[in-house]
Amino acid sequence: MAVLQQIVFLIVLAIAGYVIRKRVLSIRNNIQLGKKQVLTGDASKRLQNLLLTAFGQKKMFKKIIPATLHFFIYVGFLVINLEVLEFIIDGLAGTHRIFAPYLGGFYNVLMNVFEFLAVAVLLACVVFLIRRNIIKVKRFWSVEMKGWPQLDGNLILVIESILMIAILTMNASDQILQTRSDHYAATGSLFFSSTLIPLFESLNTSSLIFIERFAWWFHIVGILGFTVYVTYSKHLHIFMAFPNTYNAKLEVKGHINTMPVVTNEVKSMLGLATEPPATPVEPGRFGAKDINDLSRINLMAAYACTECGRCTSQCPANLTGKKLSPRKIMMDTRDRMEEVGKSIQTGGPGLNDGKTLLNDYITKEEINACTSCNACVEACPILINPLEIILELRRYVAMEESGSPAQWNSMFQNIETSFAPWKFSAADRFNWSKE
Ligand code: SF4
Ligand code: SF4
Repeated sequence: MAVLQQIVFLIVLAIAGYVIRKRVLSIRNNIQLGKKQVLTGDASKRLQNLLLTAFGQKKMFKKIIPATLHFFIYVGFLVINLEVLEFIIDGLAGTHRIFAPYLGGFYNVLMNVFEFLAVAVLLACVVFLIRRNIIKVKRFWSVEMKGWPQLDGNLILVIESILMIAILTMNASDQILQTRSDHYAATGSLFFSSTLIPLFESLNTSSLIFIERFAWWFHIVGILGFTVYVTYSKHLHIFMAFPNTYNAKLEVKGHINTMPVVTNEVKSMLGLATEPPATPVEPGRFGAKDINDLSRINLMAAYACTECGRCTSQCPANLTGKKLSPRKIMMDTRDRMEEVGKSIQTGGPGLNDGKTLLNDYITKEEINACTSCNACVEACPILINPLEIILELRRYVAMEESGSPAQWNSMFQNIETSFAPWKFSAADRFNWSKE
């Protein structure tokens, strides 16, 4: 029986490993559809961003209660997963709590810490479910959150809660079994799960063994299933927040990426010295029409987006009833990437499917509503920059299609000819100084 369990465990582990690897590769390929971007700037500043913002959750602590609850879920995820190591070794070797004899009294401390975190995660999940579904925090009920995004947010909280209950159930039944058989390594008293012991105490040994084994299998299969699920969900931010914060823009907010080809052109028009690029660059397309015109960092950010809506809740355009939502910009970018990626994988037309990010996902009305204020960039807890994508799309509309609103086009023309947004002769420009 034990050998059969080991074989089944190995098969489950291999299937999960195969599916996760396949999905990770497809995400990598999707991100590689974007343009390569050379990282510049101080690497130590990037590392600091990663440690403080992704690891330390610095920007989350603007709102202390949700931040603390989120912190418990995050630490719980990191720390409780250490226990998964023991699960995997036990599953493969056919042992039971293999670390217990080696760690002695420390094992009891460790298990109590895990249980504390399991209870904290459980409470945090319940509070988050209440905030989403009963209090109905506004940012979780925007138009772009209808359907799958809303279900996804709830599903993950429910799954995490059930996984935590499974751990506590397993530990409670295990503690009773320790008093009935030598097979069960002594863990010492576990504070939280021992409160559940009265529920199971009256059961016979074979029922307890069934409950303990069921909870064990449920937890490990649940964790593996959860890991697969996460790669399809907004919860991918658990992993993607780290590279995203490292690759985040270091320039001050308000800095807009220029196009070297255009900068040189303008400089030569003004008679200023131009800077030849280190390697000759193809002018290519101005701005972005589809995902392959965006940088890989922009595309990676779309996978990192947590769909928390903090950006949208701060966006002045959104707050004044415009159609723009920076969260939707990131969700649309990811959805388009997924669409193209799937098409390529199945031998379809990929990027040539007749659709584009601009128009089919994000409309001109949305991008034109952006004031470039950077409030969304400031609000994002993991340093995502939706404005960069908006500006690239807007740049395409303005420079490739001349499709900006008529007033903007005449302003662009005035800047080009009169070096000012207003139409007057450059020669008259300093008339004011004559008197
Ligand atoms: S930069 Fe644009 S999208 Fe971002 S908050 Fe300001 S108006 Fe909204
Ligand atoms: S871009 Fe940032 S703030 Fe906006 S929804 Fe995504 S993670 Fe949240």
